[in-house]
Amino acid sequence: MTDATAIGTETMEEIDLEIGPGYDDATHFDPGATQNLALIAVNDHGMKPTPRKKKKVVKRWRDEWAETYKWAHVAVHEGSHRIFCSVCKEYGRKHRRNPYGNEGSRNMQMSALEEHNNSLLHKEALRLQMASRDKGLGFIERPLYVKDILRQCTNEGYFQQTLSSSILRRDPYEVEFIQSVQEVLHSLEPVLAKVPQYVHVLERLVEPERVVIFKVPWVDDKGEAHVNRGFRVQFNQALGPYKGGLRFHPTVNLSVVKFLAFEQTLKNSLSSLSLGGGKGGSDFNPKGKSENEIMRFCYSFMDELYRHIGPNQVPIFDTPSGDIGVGPREIGYLFGQYRRLTSQYEGMLGPKGIQWGLSNLHPEATGYGVVYFAKEVLANLEKDLKDLRCVVSGAGKVALYAVEKLIAFGAVPITISDTRGYLLDEDGFDRTKLGLIREIKAHNNSLGEYTKLYPRAKYFDDMKPWTVKCDIAFPCATQNELNHADAMSLINLGCQVIIEGANMPCTAEAIDVFRKSKVWFGPGKAANAGGVTIQGLEMAQNTSYVQWTAEEVDMRLQEVMRDIHQKIIKAAQDYGIGNPEALLHGANIASFLRVAQAMLEQGCV
Ligand code: NAP
Repeated sequence: MTDATAIGTETMEEIDLEIGPGYDDATHFDPGATQNLALIAVNDHGMKPTPRKKKKVVKRWRDEWAETYKWAHVAVHEGSHRIFCSVCKEYGRKHRRNPYGNEGSRNMQMSALEEHNNSLLHKEALRLQMASRDKGLGFIERPLYVKDILRQCTNEGYFQQTLSSSILRRDPYEVEFIQSVQEVLHSLEPVLAKVPQYVHVLERLVEPERVVIFKVPWVDDKGEAHVNRGFRVQFNQALGPYKGGLRFHPTVNLSVVKFLAFEQTLKNSLSSLSLGGGKGGSDFNPKGKSENEIMRFCYSFMDELYRHIGPNQVPIFDTPSGDIGVGPREIGYLFGQYRRLTSQYEGMLGPKGIQWGLSNLHPEATGYGVVYFAKEVLANLEKDLKDLRCVVSGAGKVALYAVEKLIAFGAVPITISDTRGYLLDEDGFDRTKLGLIREIKAHNNSLGEYTKLYPRAKYFDDMKPWTVKCDIAFPCATQNELNHADAMSLINLGCQVIIEGANMPCTAEAIDVFRKSKVWFGPGKAANAGGVTIQGLEMAQNTSYVQWTAEEVDMRLQEVMRDIHQKIIKAAQDYGIGNPEALLHGANIASFLRVAQAMLEQGCV
């Protein structure tokens, strides 16, 4: 559903707006009215939309315009992606132009305008605009439509109806969640065609087992009260206890947490450990907060979360750990409060201080694992990392440990980035330079500071590193950070391999570019599975009261990443998928099959 068209000099894509019955009642929607904007915002936070009746099409001219109204476009406008209307070619809330222009009677013009404003197109464009704006992403780049994929998988029509209704009708505002499910569905076509009973398992898999949303009130240093929203999505426990990180970031909402939990379920399945998938977090922003404020927030967050986690609570067996905005400091406060509330000392929270039960390689595990995975991919191509130019995005836990391991393997990491811009050092980072970067980040300073000591390096404010010539790219910052244009740029500059360190950092359109360009693309659910694997091993370690050395853990991590790579390649081969798409589809197939089999064996779960 991503036909490209062109309006002016901009590249356009088409979005099918048939989002199912119940969204076409003009009486419930006036794009200019504040209450409707509020409705959109509320629904974007996961509440079920008010049921609406489908409006009967009574106007003759409506039929004539029906085809036109079906389409909207996504295009770059003033540097960010916007949803455009194909009729008036304007975007978002602006697109209210009368499609009749100055022709026709005033009545015709008025009814056309009204109809246009109440059309599926206008409402969907507005909804997408709001959803993307609320998430701070500024763009939504892919069709929110699964029907066509499913139509190819099954002739019975039942599944396409149930799945599209379960995701699109039930949660039409969960953009990231729909994106992550769509990506997996695409890979599962051959599996569903071969084993139709998996269709029904998939239908149950995309529904989380439990979603907890709670209020997190806290008081700042000035004595002012604030309230944030907390989430814990316990997605699937078929393979073992729920396991997955907590994210504290202003963009966190139900859609983001559900997508992360869904990805985590599949990632944990790939890791061979007996772990289910979950994820949680809050829209709290730790940046700019004092230590005491962060501690008070973490305590308040745990005051509610502790009721829903713990090793002995049946059926909830949940072990959260870190993600964006949650590191050892936050985990320490969360664990401290958990211990006080429950009088229990289980190793259920992630990267704890080493003196109280952490394995010797926890903080490094995800970033190191990403590089080990890249090494496996290259070994398959009879190459190695030595001297390869690597572009890395992000300057957090995953990115910096990936850079550290790249340096160790003799690769040449030349960029890192953060929310403010990116840093390019054509000479490559070494351990000393990495130390400086860590210091800069620890003080929350700009990466531009680096150029004071290394004047040959360049800092680019408010830009992404995807325009830098490289052999391998490692997107390690956040979801949807690498879009279609970025992918085109990387390919044009000769990038051969893309390994996702973050969760879903590449948009569907970017992945499509990689697929078509026949470069190697390692999806995050495989490449960044090192962290969860180490946490799984850590849980085993905690129960036996022993501590492995860093070398032991590192050796296990390498074995696990090798094993994941082999599993993926085998799954792709089993379903006749050749290179280089084997990594993408093989990861989705192998991870799905393990969870699906467990779910089948457990009956209707
Ligand atoms: P982190 O330590 O908080 O670092 C995130 C980095 O990305 C920061 O440098 C941040 O910039 C940057 N960033 C965040 N949003 C951005 C945006 N919209 N544009 C540009 N840069 C942005 O987080 P992390 O633990 O490294 O996690 C990074 C990714 O890896 C996430 O997708 C996470 O889900 C995934 N992951 C993490 C783990 C783990 O164990 N930590 C495991 C598996 C997957 P600032 O410094 O300016 O904030």
